[in-house]
Amino acid sequence: MEKVDIIGGGIAGLALAGMLDPERFDVTVFEQRTELPAVGTTLAMWPKAQQALSRLGILGAVRNRGAIIKAGALRRPSGEALLAIEGEGLLGVSRPELLRLLDTAVPASVRRMVGRVDHLSGAAALTVGADGVNSIVRRGTWGKRSAARPTPFLAVRGVVPATPSPGDVGEYWGRGEIFGLAPAIGGSNWYASFRSELGPDKVDVAGALEVTRRRYANYSSSVRDVLDLATADTSLAQRIWTTPPLGIYAGRGVVLVGDAAHAMTPNLGRGACEALIDAVTLGKLLNEQPMDKALATYTRKRVMRTQLLRLASSAMGRVALAQGAQPWRDALLKQVGKRVAGTRERAGTSK
Ligand SMILES: Cc1cc2nc3c(=O)[nH]c(=O)nc-3n(C[C@H](O)[C@H](O)[C@H](O)COP(=O)(O)OP(=O)(O)OC[C@H]3O[C@@H](n4cnc5c(N)ncnc54)[C@H](O)[C@@H]3O)c2cc1C
Repeated sequence: MEKVDIIGGGIAGLALAGMLDPERFDVTVFEQRTELPAVGTTLAMWPKAQQALSRLGILGAVRNRGAIIKAGALRRPSGEALLAIEGEGLLGVSRPELLRLLDTAVPASVRRMVGRVDHLSGAAALTVGADGVNSIVRRGTWGKRSAARPTPFLAVRGVVPATPSPGDVGEYWGRGEIFGLAPAIGGSNWYASFRSELGPDKVDVAGALEVTRRRYANYSSSVRDVLDLATADTSLAQRIWTTPPLGIYAGRGVVLVGDAAHAMTPNLGRGACEALIDAVTLGKLLNEQPMDKALATYTRKRVMRTQLLRLASSAMGRVALAQGAQPWRDALLKQVGKRVAGTRERAGTSK
């Protein structure tokens, strides 16, 4: 039996623990959280992440507890649609629900240690950094220069018990700020992001909600109504952090998965999806190949794609959160929206 220590029992850590062959690996998951989070907003699962959930045997259960995200639009603060977006194939699931279901896929033989890991013991044949954006495994192995950096942006988000009308769903792009609204089980999932001095650590949620309400006071009534319903108990507020680029995710006896390897801004909704795909890819390789070969193949398969997504998310964030260039951006989006609508109409009439 080869000993594997997984630092972090979040999305990536639990998924990897669920993949590793219990006949071959003696696995321990170290998690600082004492229980699953009670508050959490919806994560959009793209098709490849759904395939990863299927490998873990929980896609059906996630579908039962999730909501299909069909369509939305990029909107002006007034609600006017600039560009319609087809969301076919996207599955929205709440983070606590996803963590709970991933937990059910972990074999009983996996040992659970509750508490924060502060240094790497190196006692295992493989130490996995699944400890998120502020990973100690990453810093401890790749050095201080690889540490996460705060962006100027705050993310405030939550769930309210009111279903959004289809004409309100989408992302509202203002000047240096965005607001997102999507259906969720039992209501609406919302998120707001803008530059803020709050944080970077332990952001006061009630204070952040007040700032958010003021900031979006001139938005459409659908946005204001959601923010009026939001409470500190059902909302989260945090600074967005990202990691600098890495060209390799594995060294001798150590490997990174999820945000520890490639934390990106949330603008493409890919971080959790890629964390799942990392874990399933790595688990399958470790089950089938000698460790050194599996780690080298994992790096080769995952670095390019995830680093490109990291760059694309940050480029998307710069466009969405544009300040000075916002009028040009909106004019361009409007033109693209008209062309896309025209193409769809012609495709419809020619059928
Ligand atoms: C506002 C926002 C919206 C997002 N929306 C989406 C979306 O729609 N779709 C999507 O795919 N992604 C989304 N993401 C990204 C997604 O949340 C992350 O990419 C994902 O959570 C990464 O999973 P992970 O397991 O790598 O890290 P985490 O979820 O951060 O898990 C790390 C775990 O390690 C534990 N840990 C950390 N340090 C230690 C330690 N020293 N000792 C012990 N335990 C430790 C933590 O407690 C945690 O449980 C969003 C992110 C944000 C901020």
